[in-house]
Amino acid sequence: MARRRQLYEGKAKILFEGPEPGTLVQYFKDDATAFNSQKKGTITGKGVLNNRISEYLMLRLGEIGVPTHFVRRLNMREQLIREVEIIPIEVVVRNVAAGSLSKRLGIPEGTRLPRSIIEYYYKNAALENPMVGEEHITAFGWAGTQDMDDMVALTLRINDFLTGLFLGVGITLVDFKVEFGRLYENDDMRIVLADELSPDNCRLWDSKTNEKMDKDRFRRDLGKVEEAYQEVARRLGILPEAGIRDLKGPELMQ
Ligand code: UDP
Repeated sequence: MARRRQLYEGKAKILFEGPEPGTLVQYFKDDATAFNSQKKGTITGKGVLNNRISEYLMLRLGEIGVPTHFVRRLNMREQLIREVEIIPIEVVVRNVAAGSLSKRLGIPEGTRLPRSIIEYYYKNAALENPMVGEEHITAFGWAGTQDMDDMVALTLRINDFLTGLFLGVGITLVDFKVEFGRLYENDDMRIVLADELSPDNCRLWDSKTNEKMDKDRFRRDLGKVEEAYQEVARRLGILPEAGIRDLKGPELMQ
């Protein structure tokens, strides 16, 4: 196949021109960064696992009517996606206190929050992705009020669905980050889930032991990073054991 034209290289992924207009190919790397790129490393096999995990979660979300940019997985590291105009906001949802929330507000990690909390961060690496409010987002035109309503409604559905899905396999969804894009079709525009959903942008804790099964193992040098990502895939029933066709369903916990 002819080499595809590279459009953008991010920290964990590369975007290439897709085979048809309006499509892109998203390539998952093994590179990992943390603390606004101050910490850099590689997690062997991460790209392959995140490609599969993100595919699985986006497909399940699609089944309950959450629109996503995902089209299909092409191979171990690549997926075909719809080209969208990314809204420059990272939407974070929290169910349990951890990370920057614990640090900023002095709430011990592991404290269950009275309700799910949504936060927004402006995607701007030079400014280190500052936290912003809805007022900033609409005043500066990064997203309109209708976009915000759509993003919040989708985010809450995604959170409820993923919380249940992970709980079913013995994992607590502590928090996660999502990004949305504008998908233009004919004269219509709709907001769809974009980017990826994987242990790179979720906090996932074993629900019995609270052991971390996500990128915090890399951020905090806890070791066994690859194993943790693999265990997430294994519990979701998407880790091919004897080959790509040997897929089980999710392993339900009692
Ligand atoms: N997160 C992310 N990308 C970022 C910042 C955060 O995917 O640039 C995710 C992170 O993995 C966690 C959630 O968003 O699941 C909340 O992160 P937090 O604000 O606690 O920041 P952190 O402690 O990761 O710096």
